[in-house]
Amino acid sequence: MEKIFLDILRPDDWHVHLREGEMLSSVLPFTYENFGSALIMPNLDTPITNISLAETYYNEICKRIPRGAEFTPNMTLYLTNHLSKDEIKKVSNHEYIKAIKMYPKGATTNSDAGISDFKDFYHLFEVMEEKGVILSIHGEVTDEKIDVFERESVFIEKVLKKIIKQFPNLKIVLEHITSADAVKFINEESMVAATITIHHLMVNRNIMLSKGIRPDFYCAPILKTEYDRLALVQAATSGNCKFFLGTDSAPHVEGKKIASCGCAGIFSSPLAIPLLIQLFEEHSSLEKIEPFVSRNGRAFYGLRQHKDRVRYVKRPKSIEVIKDIKSSHGKITVFNPYNEVYWEKED
Ligand SMILES: [Zn+2]
Repeated sequence: MEKIFLDILRPDDWHVHLREGEMLSSVLPFTYENFGSALIMPNLDTPITNISLAETYYNEICKRIPRGAEFTPNMTLYLTNHLSKDEIKKVSNHEYIKAIKMYPKGATTNSDAGISDFKDFYHLFEVMEEKGVILSIHGEVTDEKIDVFERESVFIEKVLKKIIKQFPNLKIVLEHITSADAVKFINEESMVAATITIHHLMVNRNIMLSKGIRPDFYCAPILKTEYDRLALVQAATSGNCKFFLGTDSAPHVEGKKIASCGCAGIFSSPLAIPLLIQLFEEHSSLEKIEPFVSRNGRAFYGLRQHKDRVRYVKRPKSIEVIKDIKSSHGKITVFNPYNEVYWEKED
């Protein structure tokens, strides 16, 4: 039988949570084995709020990457009012700090240091706009009066449009978009791109809630409707350079996921690329996967494209895939909504 394979430029992950300490050691191999680079989020127990903390964290990560692995960690700073204009100027030509991340207060894990009034940061946005530093945004309001399924759309209307109006040349990545509204918005704005996760491309809120609750699909921003999911699939498979992969892979041990107040976050790094290939294949868009996972993000971040290619092979029968990984605090479930997986990386 003819061998079916797909060669693509080495993929990148433009949004990942690698955590720290033992958890970092447990999850990092799945990122450096599958991606050429990753943008690493700064929401640690002590958030990465300045260059010095980012450099220490970078060194902690690099220590764990084996010689010969072709992987570059790109770092982010957590936006707080302790960040100075000078520090932002340094970020603009820093070797590996590539974005400043804005979390609305309380939007996700360890985001209590996030911001509540965006206008407090306008003096910093001004420098970022001038120096071409990218603002990466968790795009949800956190007002408890706003329904959890509406928080992204309200953020776009009430906050993001104001920021863009004030800073039309500020480069922005709206992270992990979840809705048809967000896709439409990105298509209309010239300086704004978006990351999309694999879970928002593959599952919807019915799958999470309608036949018993599925804590392993619980994430922030929360899954939306099938209509929204299809709009995201359309965006990802369009080849449009404004959409690229950010897995938002965010590991939590089982005991924290399956609890009376379970944590938001999905661990998706291990199977991200094979599952995506399968999804793109189902949508007859295999030729569009390379822009989405390899090219568009690098172009937006102004980085040279990778040169080397990675081969994925389609097996004639479904393959045995990793279900979870172990850590000393318990197991971490690997995201996989498919019953059968056919694609894998060729060694
Ligand atoms: Zn995230």
